[in-house]
Formats: sequence, structure tokens, C-alpha cells
Amino acid sequence: MSIVLDSKVPKGDLASKWTDYRSTMNLVAPNNKRRIEIIVVGTGLAGASAAATLGELGYKVKCFTFHDSPRRAHSIAAQGGINAAKNYQNDGDSVYRLFYDTIKGGDYRSREANVHRLAEVSRNIIDQCVAQGVPFAREYGGLLANRSFGGVQVSRTFYAKGQTGQQLLLGAYQALSRQISKGSVEMYNRHEMLDLVKIDGKARGIIARNLLNGKLERFAAHCVVLATGGYGNVFYLSTNAMGSNTTAAWRAVKRGALMANPCFTQIHPTCIPVSGEYQSKLTLMSESLRNDGRVWVPAKLEDAKAIRKGEKTALDIPEADRDYYLERRYPAFGNLVPRDVASRAAKVACDEGKGVNPTGLAVYLDFADAIKRYGSSEAHSLGLENASEQKIIELGTKIVEKKYGNLFQMYEKITGENPYKMPMKIFPAVHYTMGGIWVDYNLETNVPGLFALGEANFSDHGANRLGASALMQGLADGYFVIPYTIGQFLSNEIRTPSISTEDPAFDEAESNVASHLEKLMNIKGNQSVESFHRRLGKIMWEYCGMSRNAEGLKKGRQMIRELREEFYRDVFVPGEMNEYNPELEKASRVADFLELGEVMMMDALDRAESCGGHFREEYSTTEGEAQRNDKDFTYVAAWSWDETEPQMHREDLEFKNVELKTRSYK
Ligand SMILES: Cc1cc2nc3c(=O)[nH]c(=O)nc-3n(C[C@H](O)[C@H](O)[C@H](O)COP(=O)(O)OP(=O)(O)OC[C@H]3O[C@@H](n4cnc5c(N)ncnc54)[C@H](O)[C@@H]3O)c2cc1C
Repeated sequence: MSIVLDSKVPKGDLASKWTDYRSTMNLVAPNNKRRIEIIVVGTGLAGASAAATLGELGYKVKCFTFHDSPRRAHSIAAQGGINAAKNYQNDGDSVYRLFYDTIKGGDYRSREANVHRLAEVSRNIIDQCVAQGVPFAREYGGLLANRSFGGVQVSRTFYAKGQTGQQLLLGAYQALSRQISKGSVEMYNRHEMLDLVKIDGKARGIIARNLLNGKLERFAAHCVVLATGGYGNVFYLSTNAMGSNTTAAWRAVKRGALMANPCFTQIHPTCIPVSGEYQSKLTLMSESLRNDGRVWVPAKLEDAKAIRKGEKTALDIPEADRDYYLERRYPAFGNLVPRDVASRAAKVACDEGKGVNPTGLAVYLDFADAIKRYGSSEAHSLGLENASEQKIIELGTKIVEKKYGNLFQMYEKITGENPYKMPMKIFPAVHYTMGGIWVDYNLETNVPGLFALGEANFSDHGANRLGASALMQGLADGYFVIPYTIGQFLSNEIRTPSISTEDPAFDEAESNVASHLEKLMNIKGNQSVESFHRRLGKIMWEYCGMSRNAEGLKKGRQMIRELREEFYRDVFVPGEMNEYNPELEKASRVADFLELGEVMMMDALDRAESCGGHFREEYSTTEGEAQRNDKDFTYVAAWSWDETEPQMHREDLEFKNVELKTRSYK
């Protein structure tokens, strides 16, 4: 049966909707807040900011992470920056422009009202973080500095070298620690949520496994907030932290929440290429590098071949024989086209045989021009007339080092090549999932009392996320949206007494988790969990990766079903259930990926159009660009799980403030 999805977008003008709604929504009085309990799962930017703010507001918060410290959340890895419509550069930015760029960048597959609110509160985030002491980069005069990210023509990205996520998370963690010390937040590290508990249809608690001793524990609250990150690791190889997984979200789906647009995966164009069969992790080279790096491949096939054989290097290819294909194909945005466009263009170049590493799956990202440009300008500032080329390179290298030093160092450590001298080799890799748990304007799922924030929800990025927008969304959700919207639900719960973990719903959920873990332990097969994960990742990449087609998606779905059947027949999980057992943790996560992967294939098959990161080979323009079908697919596809035939439920998207156009970055 189809579920009716009510987005609960308030009435009124787009620009004043959020302010009006915020000013008139139901509140929970301070004395009632002190009695109301909230579970927050996740301590990344979304979860830490939400738990800290809800604690500060006076609610009793229990916060969970499977990591050994909240600071270990994957958000710590974010490199390039965070967007905000501050217009510090005076280059024409505004709330509307950030809204518009995000809607367009997402290929018109996100909800207007949510995106506008995001653009509005983006400005508050920067103020909040500065007040916390986040050391954003500054201009010489003291103002916060900005740089550009893909898909936009203004500079609105705030950054802290190449470690923005780390600094923002330290800010949120300090706010969280303050609440922990005051007692308004109880922190549970090394606890993994394995089920959602519903009582009378409402989310009222979770079952978590204490990862240190393997015990199952029950936690009750008036509502549950999931801020559990993305599921890119369904592809096995991704830029995500190794531990990132879908389990919390997926177990919520099994309790009735919906997984929206699961096939919308972001493939990031600038990652260090895969180097071998047994690699388990890919490393991102931040998009910020495309501010200064120029992407190219040899124009001549014979040069590319010689490079692959090791007979030539990039430095042997004269300027006239280089194809700066992004600048050629997209002159308006050049190297700063959005990620989906840049990734596909790299694939086209490599498919043509112009790849520049032994596997043929790499293109160059070259800083030589930027080094010369910065060096000349610096020489001029220093009054060095007729500076030698060597001096210019020396000065330029220092400036590039200041901007991106830690990224260059990381690249050199991993590849053994010095990117100041030899262009980086990069290739697209799975990076972010725009899909996630379906939420309405209040960030509430279709399960009353269950909320989802940050990368875990599907809300704001449509079919393609613009760079530096995930940190913005996570912090917007946690600091500035959920503290208000959660009141819409909780204001009706002020008479609800404390929820008891003795409720039969907890018995049922706990035994459900225990029997699944026992099942995994008792298979005692011959193959490792890792080997199943790797095989799943290959199927996902082959049939649901950078480009997809109907035939491949059907095949991929069938292969996943077979792999899942084999997993439950032949996986081997060593150790015991009631003890520290990382292999069991992995097995339970891979079991969920094996179901989510099937739904991703179905979602990609259903969406018979190309949009953003979802490129269906059957639907492209004569120039090889994505071809949307707005008449039939301007909707959010939200999936419920069923072992035999998952069902899709639709939320139709309405665009009243932007005109749907073919995206062009030419
Ligand atoms: C290498 C890299 C660089 C990036 N750089 C940028 C950038 O420069 N700018 C930008 O905007 N975005 C960037 N992103 C994207 C961005 O970092 C993420 O989208 C964002 O940090 C996600 O934050 P989150 O709070 O939603 O989730 P996460 O940070 O992933 O946190 C998830 C939390 O949930 C917890 N958790 C998950 N499941 C469970 C469970 N079952 N039980 C208990 N706890 C659980 C985890 O322990 C963790 O605390 C980058 C991503 C990568 C991979």
C-alpha cells in the first residue's frame, strides 16, 4: 500500500516561510523540557551540534556513537570548507543565489523550501562557529577568507586549511562536552544502535550493543534523532571513513521509515586512484584544489600510451598536446564544474584511452600554472624585478603550500610523488550519498517521533551535492533547525511520562537483534565478511556506479540477491557474540548493505532519466550530458523494505520559485 508523504512545508512566501513558521510553531516550556528525554544517535557535525543545542535548551539528551570518542566521527575528515551566503567578497552572493545554486546543482530534485531555509541559516552557522573559536582562514585584514567550490561563480566557502571538518567538529564537540559536564547530555561511546523501538507507532527508544562487552542494552526516550551519516561504503571502496555504515538508518527503515532517493550517490572527481585489488580505502583530494589545479589528459593517444608504459611523464607533454578538457567543454565554469559533471568528463577521457596511470583510470590535476601565477604576483609584491623562473617557482610553491599544504603532503605520502613538481593523478570515487531517510520540513521521518539529520537524511541536495554543502547542512540541521522543529512533536508529549524500557516493544526489539546476531554467529561458513563486502562493492560500482543502464541494474539486483543468499549460507564470523567482536560488528553492517544495495539498484532502474550523479546511459544528450525527464520524474522516490519486493512511495516536488532548466555550465 502506498504511503502518503506529507512534506509539511508551511504556507507563505519562500523567503519568509521559515521565519514565520519559527515564530508561530509550538514551544515546549522550560519546566517541561527538563522532563523530556531525547535520544541522539551520532556525534558527527549533525549529531554533536543537535545534542549540544538540545541539551543547552534544557532537554535530557542521551547521545550515542559507535566510536570511542564523539570526535572520531567521519565529519572529522572533511577537508575543503563550508558554504555560507555571507557575501564577504562582495562578488554578488546572496541567500537567493546560494538557494538557486543548490537547487540547480542538485538538478532540480530537492525541495525548494528546505533548500531556502538552508541558505538562510548558513549565515548563522559561521557566526556560531567563530564564537566557538573555530580558526577559519582569514584575509590579511582580518576578515574571514573564502574560496570557490564547484558549480558556483562566487567565493562563499569558509575553510580552515584542508581541515575544515576537523575544526568544525572540535567546535561542536566542545559545545557537546560542556553539556556532558553539566549533565544535560549523557554520552554513550562505543555503543552501536541496532534497532529502533516503536511504541504505539511512535519512536520511543533504541537497542544498542555495547561494543566493548557485546551486551545488548535498552534506551528509552520521548523521541529519537538519527544523525548517523551516509552509506557510501555500500560500494566498499569510497572516501568515507571505514566505519561509516547504514545500519542505524536501515534498521529504522525496517521499522517503517523510508529510504529516499537511495540511488543518488556522489562520485567525487578528485580522489587518489585505486592502486590494487586489496585496497580497502580511497583518499579524497579536496575539491578546493580545483580552484588552482587544472585538469588535463594528453590530447594524443600515443602520448597517453607512453605515459602508461612509463616511457613518458606529464612533464614530457608540451602545452599544445594537452587537452584541458573541462576548460574546453565548459568554458563558463572550467575546472570548477560540479562534481557529477567533472567525474563523468574524467570517465569519458579515460574511456577514450587517455588515462595516465598503468590502469588507464587517472587524469592529471596540475598546479604548475598556479605556482607560476602566485610566484609572479609575490615577486611583484616584493619588488623583485626580473625574478628568475626558479625564484618565481620557489615563491609560488610557498603560497600553494600555505593554501593546500596538508593535502599535498597527504598525496605525497600515499603516492610517493611530489605534487609541487609532478601533476597529481586523480580519478573519481564514491564520496557522499544524497539519498537517505525521508524527512519532512521538520526533519521528521514518516515514523512519528523519529527525526533524521545531516547526511543520514535525503533532504537538501537533490541528485548532486555541491561541494562544501554537507557541512553546512549538518550544522544547519543540528544547530538551527531541529532545536525548533522537534518542538512540534514534543509539545504534544508534555504529558507523556518517562518511557519505560520494560515495555514489551523493548523485549521484542531486543530479541530481534539477538536472534539476528546469533544467526550471523551460527553460520560458521568459509568466507570472511570482508570478502562479501568487497564483492558487493564491485557489483555496485559496475552496475550502479558512474553510469547505469536498465539491463545492468536488473542484473545487479539479481547478483546482490544471490550474494545475500550466499552470505547467510557461508559467511564466517569468528569469536563470540557477548564479547568485543569487531568482525561481528562488520557482519551486521554488511548484512544491511546487502539489502540497501538491492534497493539502490531498484531506485536507479525506476528513475528512467539522467539527473545529477544518476547517469542512465539511455538518457543523454547528443553531447553526452545528462538528460532529465521533468514530466515524469520530478519526485522523491521513498522506498519501504520488503525482502521479496521493496515498494516505492512518491513525494511530488513542486517548483514555484525557480524555473526548471537544462543545467548548463558551458
Ligand atoms: C574525505 C571527505 C572530505 C569531505 N570534505 C567535505 C568538505 O570539505 N565540505 C563539506 O561540506 N563536506 C565534506 N564532506 C562530506 C561531509 O564530511 C559529511 O557529509 C558530513 O561530515 C557528515 O556528517 P554527519 O554528522 O551527517 O555524519 P558523520 O560525521 O558520518 O557522523 C555519523 C555519526 O553517527 C555515528 N553512528 C553511525 N551509525 C551509528 C550506530 N548504528 N550507532 C551509534 N552511532 C552511530 C557515528 O559514530 C558518528 O558519530 C567530506 C567527506 C569526505 C568523505
